[in-house]
Amino acid sequence: MKINNILSMSGGKDSCSTALLAVAQEVDFEMVSADTGHEHPETYEYLDYLESWFGKPIRRVKADFSEQIARKRRKLIAGELPGWTDAARDRALQVLYPTGIPFLDLCMWKGRFPSSQARFCTQFLKTEPIIEQVFLPLLDANEIIWSWQGVRRDESHARRYAKEFEEVGGGLFNYRPLVRWNADRVFEAHRYMGLKPNPLYKQGMGRVGCMPCVNSNKAELQAIALRFPDEVARVREWERLVSEASRRQSSTFFTATNDALHTSTDLVDYKTHGIDRMIEWSGTARGGRQFDLIAASADPESCKSAYGLCE
Ligand code: SF4
Repeated sequence: MKINNILSMSGGKDSCSTALLAVAQEVDFEMVSADTGHEHPETYEYLDYLESWFGKPIRRVKADFSEQIARKRRKLIAGELPGWTDAARDRALQVLYPTGIPFLDLCMWKGRFPSSQARFCTQFLKTEPIIEQVFLPLLDANEIIWSWQGVRRDESHARRYAKEFEEVGGGLFNYRPLVRWNADRVFEAHRYMGLKPNPLYKQGMGRVGCMPCVNSNKAELQAIALRFPDEVARVREWERLVSEASRRQSSTFFTATNDALHTSTDLVDYKTHGIDRMIEWSGTARGGRQFDLIAASADPESCKSAYGLCE
């Protein structure tokens, strides 16, 4: 039976190091990347660089929510969705069309953004398109897949017990060769092999993925506000579209209650509690009560790295 080594490539440091390890072990592997439509342009450019560095193509897959959106439209028109007012329905029908941007279409279909508590984005935007478009055709042909994943145990609590190797079933195996690695070792692998890390790591980003990720921390938000106003403007527009497509007519990209100044009596609306409020909060110190002068005077062109890459 044919064995396929398929590596999920996000353009981040861990998936790159996984690929470097495969090269060092002289493994024949393929790379696949799930395009969420919500990556920074420099990550898309970096994927092109990786293709030339590794000398092989990265297969790009995308989720498509046009059917789900069409179904939601039909149900709205037929009045089959409970709790919708006529005004909310009419507004939703004006914006509820597929855009071809997977992240935005997923949120318009769901009528909300994902969050750290409801992280449906990974499943719908990354896991399922790769399984459906890449893995299933091979498994249906009775081939074996080793799915190489750049997962490290020290990344997060949820990954603390990640297994290095596991059988999923049906010929699919997960292989996570970096489970015991830390971030220093990951960047050391880049240095040793001569691969440039994603440039966003020198622009204040602790992680590379969606821009921004729903799990972004305050420092990352601060860096995004300083360096990437176009991405902030895009998210602001997405908040409007997703809000108009939602029953409540409001949805914020970040959970508004994460803001330290939020009180339980605040009425949450995307116009007052959206990305701009979180950006404003990211530029504060002392629990959000004081303007952070040091952050505000930072140079947007300067090198900043949580991993000591600027030294
Ligand atoms: S990078 Fe963040 S926002 Fe993007 S799919 Fe993953 S968890 Fe969701």
